[in-house]
Amino acid sequence: MIDLHLHSTCSDGSETPERVVELAAAAGCTSIALTDHDGLAGVAQARTRAESLGLGFVPGCEVSCAFSPGTMHVLAYFVEPGEGPLQAELERLRLDRSNRNARLLQRLRDLGLPVSFDEVEAAAGSSVIGRPHFASVLVANGAAANTQDAFDRLLAKGAPGYVPKARIDAATFIATAKGSGAVAVLAHPLSLGLGASGLDRVLEELSAAGLGGTECYYGRYSPEERARLAETARRHHLVATGGSDFHGSFKPDLSIGTGTGDLDVPDAALAELRARKPSTRP
Ligand code: AMP
Ligand code: ZN
Ligand code: FE
Ligand code: FE
Repeated sequence: MIDLHLHSTCSDGSETPERVVELAAAAGCTSIALTDHDGLAGVAQARTRAESLGLGFVPGCEVSCAFSPGTMHVLAYFVEPGEGPLQAELERLRLDRSNRNARLLQRLRDLGLPVSFDEVEAAAGSSVIGRPHFASVLVANGAAANTQDAFDRLLAKGAPGYVPKARIDAATFIATAKGSGAVAVLAHPLSLGLGASGLDRVLEELSAAGLGGTECYYGRYSPEERARLAETARRHHLVATGGSDFHGSFKPDLSIGTGTGDLDVPDAALAELRARKPSTRP
């Protein structure tokens, strides 16, 4: 059993990178990938722990790409912290998030809502600050009934408090990942919100841009959905990968390795993914 989609405190998971690795080992995983959003800050710690526990480790990350009206997340595997085109892009995305957060705070205050940066920071704790933390402060201060209400009336796209973040185009992201020696994989393809033919079209387009795989064995997908996605991946000559999308206690229904209980990502997926690694010149 392997798990190629895991989040830690370095993005929006509840467990430290070391702890994520320990939980993976305890769950019986033989190899894992850490895939925090927009960054590689957990890679060094996770790798050290994985080595000490004899677990295979792949450094990775997950990025939100431009797509509408659904959501497109793309994973990049075999990307090392340090210098490189993908690493620079991740830095740019993080900087944009922090600028967006400052503008979002100002926007909410202009709307007369009770929210301060200190409260948002406290709500985020060790996580990267995002809209869910603004939502929880708005709820705590009585400006919204619950998180969903905060999003619906204030924070969601189209609502008065919505301030967009930079989004990278998927083809550009895939090319940038390749330039850093990484392999790009479309994450949880059903969040695109497309039917079978729409998904085919997107996979064709992204394959032409150099996509290496698509996530089929996903924590929240049914056995039927997984099988259908694996068949789609085969048709597009893409590696059928998978993972739980573990976020610790923040998504308590998702366990490392097993997802909602019946996930079992085939070990072969990792070997196939590794075979797609582009050769990078020094
Ligand atoms: P951010 O990256 O800071 O823009 O926040 C994105 C996160 O906000 C997502 O991962 C979701 O957890 C949450 N989110 C986005 N849109 C909605 C929505 N319409 N309703 C509830 N939660 C949302
Ligand atoms: Zn996440
Ligand atoms: Fe995702
Ligand atoms: Fe994820």
